Amino acid sequence: MATVYFDEATRVFTGGHAPAVDHVTLDIPDGEFLVLVGPSGCGKSTTLRMLAGLEPIDAGRILIDGHDQKGVRPRDRDVAMVFQSYALYPNMTAAENMAFALTNAKVATSEVKERVAEAARILELEQFLDRKPGALSGGQRQRVAMGRAIVRNPKVFCMDEPLSNLDAKLRVSTRSQIAGLQRRLGITTVYVTHDQVEAMTMGHRVAVLRDGRLQQVGTPEELYDRPVNTFVASFIGSPAITLVEAQVREGVAEVHGVRIPLDRALAAKAGEKVVVGLRPESWHLVDAGADNGVDLKVELVEALGSESFIYGVPVGAEQEDGVSSQRVTVHSDKRVRPEVGEVVHVVPEPSEAHVFSAETGERLTSA
Ligand code: ATP
Repeated sequence: MATVYFDEATRVFTGGHAPAVDHVTLDIPDGEFLVLVGPSGCGKSTTLRMLAGLEPIDAGRILIDGHDQKGVRPRDRDVAMVFQSYALYPNMTAAENMAFALTNAKVATSEVKERVAEAARILELEQFLDRKPGALSGGQRQRVAMGRAIVRNPKVFCMDEPLSNLDAKLRVSTRSQIAGLQRRLGITTVYVTHDQVEAMTMGHRVAVLRDGRLQQVGTPEELYDRPVNTFVASFIGSPAITLVEAQVREGVAEVHGVRIPLDRALAAKAGEKVVVGLRPESWHLVDAGADNGVDLKVELVEALGSESFIYGVPVGAEQEDGVSSQRVTVHSDKRVRPEVGEVVHVVPEPSEAHVFSAETGERLTSA
């Protein structure tokens, strides 16, 4: 077990216009499950590969347990990597795949056997140990890849999208298995995904990257409740938050004709443009004619069984091509299923509004 510290870690690829990883600082305590999340190309894999020693560091440092890893070879870092492709040897059995790194490191045969048996027990792979990867399902291969990392009993696990080859149902169950396993083993883990649901459900903390730069790191709740900018606000949360530009006037921001009172500091910025963010659960369906309400023309209803999401556009803001930037997403009870084209009435919960600068996208509200 170990602490991991990224100290302004930077990676610039030759020919790249901007650093792929740009002065990233992250302090990961012993035993933490930290998820790196962000859109494709934001530098997640490169950050992880720098930690594993598979990618050089052009500026800054990475420390494991306080020791600068500069010049330390990947195999001497005590970091076990689980790749998206699993990278299993096709001509070796599951047991041989799991034992490979230990055998290579000249660990005694009896101990190798013991560690492989223990990992197989934890991962429920005992009856598959003699099979080659070609005769295993996707989920079993994924577990062998995990087993290969576990047997090494490393200081740090690095996992790069290890669930992306699994179907949706298996992904959900494997998600909780990995999170549970990490909790039991207590091994510091850095996990890369582009899937914000995976990030929010698995990580103790989540670090959001954009264009190689760290935007915010915090618990899932912190990111959801207090996103530092519009990027994090719209990246975290599914369905996404509704972001609307609004003018500040007399202490309120007007969103689709609805007055959102602002706190004093913000109200002082009269005449300024802000972006107001309201999550689906911050809108409530009401009867027609209710005070401070918005009439929404329903464009789509997602009935998920236990709940529904209604996507609509404020009446008057519809566009002929059917694409409007002013779409509002409303969370509702499963019993409420309006027809497409119907008009529903909603009011926002002003106290749950997130307010950002229209100029910089940075958060302005403190609440
Ligand atoms: P994805 O989710 O698509 O895997 P990512 O967030 O993991 O993306 P990286 O793979 O870390 O992103 O890539 C970050 C940036 O660095 C991208 O712009 C990518 O094109 C670039 N990049 C990655 N590897 C190399 C390389 N070997 N040479 C040049 N540029 C690279």
